[in-house]
Amino acid sequence: MSCPLHWACDTAPLDAYWRFRLNSFISGAFSLNSFDVIIVGSGLAGATAALRLAQHFRVAVLTKRSLEDGASGWAQGGIAAVIGKNDSFDSHVEDTLKAGAGLCDPEATRFIVEHAPDAIRWLSEQGVPFTLEEGHLHLTREGGHTHRRIVHAADATGAAVQNQLYPKLKAHPNITLFDHYMLVDLITTGKLKQIGKRCLGLYALNELTGEVETFSAGHTILATGGAGKVYLYTTNPDTATGDGIASAWRAGCRVGNMEFIQFHPTCLYHPHAKSFLISEAVRGEGGVLRLPDGTRFMPDHDQRAELASRDIVARAIDFEMKRHGVDCVYLDITHKGEAFIREHFPTIYQRCLALGIDMARDPIPVVPAAHYTCGGIVTDLSGRTDLDRLYAVGETAYTGLHGANRLASNSLLECVVMATAASQYIQATPSSPVSQLPAWDSSQVTDADEEVVISHNWDELRRFMWDYVGIVRTDKRLERAAHRLKLLSEEILEFYANFHVSRDLLELRNLVMVSELIVRSAQSRHESRGLHYSRDYPFTLDKAEPTICPGMDE
Ligand SMILES: Cc1cc2nc3c(=O)[nH]c(=O)nc-3n(C[C@H](O)[C@H](O)[C@H](O)COP(=O)(O)OP(=O)(O)OC[C@H]3O[C@@H](n4cnc5c(N)ncnc54)[C@H](O)[C@@H]3O)c2cc1C
Repeated sequence: MSCPLHWACDTAPLDAYWRFRLNSFISGAFSLNSFDVIIVGSGLAGATAALRLAQHFRVAVLTKRSLEDGASGWAQGGIAAVIGKNDSFDSHVEDTLKAGAGLCDPEATRFIVEHAPDAIRWLSEQGVPFTLEEGHLHLTREGGHTHRRIVHAADATGAAVQNQLYPKLKAHPNITLFDHYMLVDLITTGKLKQIGKRCLGLYALNELTGEVETFSAGHTILATGGAGKVYLYTTNPDTATGDGIASAWRAGCRVGNMEFIQFHPTCLYHPHAKSFLISEAVRGEGGVLRLPDGTRFMPDHDQRAELASRDIVARAIDFEMKRHGVDCVYLDITHKGEAFIREHFPTIYQRCLALGIDMARDPIPVVPAAHYTCGGIVTDLSGRTDLDRLYAVGETAYTGLHGANRLASNSLLECVVMATAASQYIQATPSSPVSQLPAWDSSQVTDADEEVVISHNWDELRRFMWDYVGIVRTDKRLERAAHRLKLLSEEILEFYANFHVSRDLLELRNLVMVSELIVRSAQSRHESRGLHYSRDYPFTLDKAEPTICPGMDE
């Protein structure tokens, strides 16, 4: 059936299979959810934008699980900001550029760094109980920062922020929350190169009813977080499936620097402990890394041994795991004794103990894990994407701040600063939602009877991305991954075309697309820089260039 509202129907996917759904849209009686601004994602980026915009507009916040689910609540360390007497913006900018290995955008970096004190002020006004010392913000220091500039709330900054923002979000008369609603696709007016192509809203799966609902918006903001779930091991929550990146790319937006995935060296390796970080402080306090036979290996890789930088330690562990064919290595701090361990690492000690690991007596099994997606949807300094009235903020965006490697505690900062900047732009350019959009039509699809295929493909994807596109890359491994992705992509497209959509299917579809972007970007970089390390190109080129993938419809 051809679409009666064709001007509005040329949504993102252009591939034959993706098109199948688009051609089957129908108009007619259906409920249209209509808002001035729709925000997808309820992490720090989405929550900041919602609270800022609700002063002026009717705002909807869609989130695919509960409000609290996302990376923001898990952030332990803190938020970087120049507040200390001897610190300066120049120094914070310099540290960020250095970590980014030549690939940070200096203008974006300065913009975000200079707005950091305002971001902290705003969060304090919201009541976030940052840790104080003698009445002033206590500043801690983290790797890569030359000054004490990390504002924090003990060792649970993200949770402290959420505890203050969420009650306000729930109580605000201008904010409507849609939890368990998952973005399926954006609705746009035409192809990107057409003048005036804009985002009109989106389709979202209501998980409670299984129906796909249509949302019309004057402005749409993607705040969907990162894509750590592409990998077998990750510190990220289950929500981190790159949905925003994949849907913006399908809609024709450029995506940048996807090869730069930050891996944390030590994530607990245990079947019942998904995504639990073993803090770097354990190595800082004398913990050593050992193979299963007890051999210490870090001194063979770097003079600083366990105190080498994150990327070097992660690469060494990956190398040793692959060389010996072992599933994990061990972090041993038993020599410090129970009293010291209990005092310095109470949370880690209790968590390990609950899983039967007494870290005062036994080494902790660990693996490196995907931690942060440095690349994402290309935006300007108002959070604007290539598509008119579509914005991206937080980890899903690529502003140019992180370059080839993220400096610790710059990401929560980016969430607040860029959500604020996008809100200010939207406030200055109000736009009404359209009153008619085509409804989603599922009359030609059936229930999937092979859920096992979807779950098998999830596992397969995450394993081969880990094995072939992880910390150390080669041309051959990338080629293998690209080949597997092609087959997987065909299979998923067929599922998408023939069966009712489910969260697992939609997430897998997005994970496959994001993986394709990572592999394609990694294949095009013929050097090693920052977080991208290739055995075939171990050198760094003189000139640093970002990797920009054109949108799917270009
Ligand atoms: C363990 C851990 C510790 C960290 N510590 C720090 C730290 O100390 N300092 C720091 O600066 N950074 C830290 N980071 C990174 C930082 O937490 C994240 O970069 C940041 O929280 C991202 O915020 P966000 O709002 O962009 O995304 P998130 O907080 O991940 O929120 C994304 C939201 O989008 C929703 N969503 C996703 N897809 C869809 C969809 N299709 N439909 C509807 N909703 C969707 C999710 O449900 C969620 O609500 C840490 C990360 C982790 C994992």
